[in-house]
Amino acid sequence: MPNKPLLLGITGGIGSGKSTVCHLFSVLGIPVYNADERAKWIVSNDPEIEKAIKAVFGADAFIEGKYNKALIASIVFKWPDKLIELNHIIHPAVGRDFECWVQANGQKAPYLVKEAALLFDSGSGNKLDYIAVVHAPDHLRIQRVKQRDPQRDEAQIKNIIGNQMRQQEMMERASFLIDNSGELMLIPQIIALNSSILLNI
Ligand code: ATP
Repeated sequence: MPNKPLLLGITGGIGSGKSTVCHLFSVLGIPVYNADERAKWIVSNDPEIEKAIKAVFGADAFIEGKYNKALIASIVFKWPDKLIELNHIIHPAVGRDFECWVQANGQKAPYLVKEAALLFDSGSGNKLDYIAVVHAPDHLRIQRVKQRDPQRDEAQIKNIIGNQMRQQEMMERASFLIDNSGELMLIPQIIALNSSILLNI
């Protein structure tokens, strides 16, 4: 087993199928770190992060210790600079949390997976050995997200897609591509990707 564990990032736009793909890696016994879920956990549980967020967004950023997502979302929607400030608080904290997780899990499997919606744009992908991009046509992603999150309307989902890095750009920068358009089955693609990583170790 190498000293520094091999790291595979899984990214893609909203509704592309990142979590579905990561579930398949879990089934293969590969530990998965979900950066977006950990970010939510850190925001709700790290008092230093709470303090830093309140310093930027005011005391109402937390109500009875609970992250005021609606307020923060409305502020960053109006003032994109605030989103940059928020990311400057959260991203380094997630980075540190990921390092600890890698230390704790590095010996458990031949490689580790990090799932994140932002890997190319946040720079956190630079520390990974490979990045696989999950992709599917926009209309299918919109349809799948609407089915998964009925409270979201199409305009909202399109707005998120418009604010994310273009899928084509992610695909051009990927080490591997995972086609989740429904044309190819996912399981054989993940088994093949797992095999190529194991062969390269
Ligand atoms: P987000 O960016 O919103 O976190 P995601 O990229 O993690 O999304 P998933 O949650 O894995 O995407 O998939 C979005 C929805 O589409 C889920 O409800 C999932 O079950 C469904 N889905 C994913 N892949 C397929 C597929 N190949 N066929 C049918 N449904 C799928």
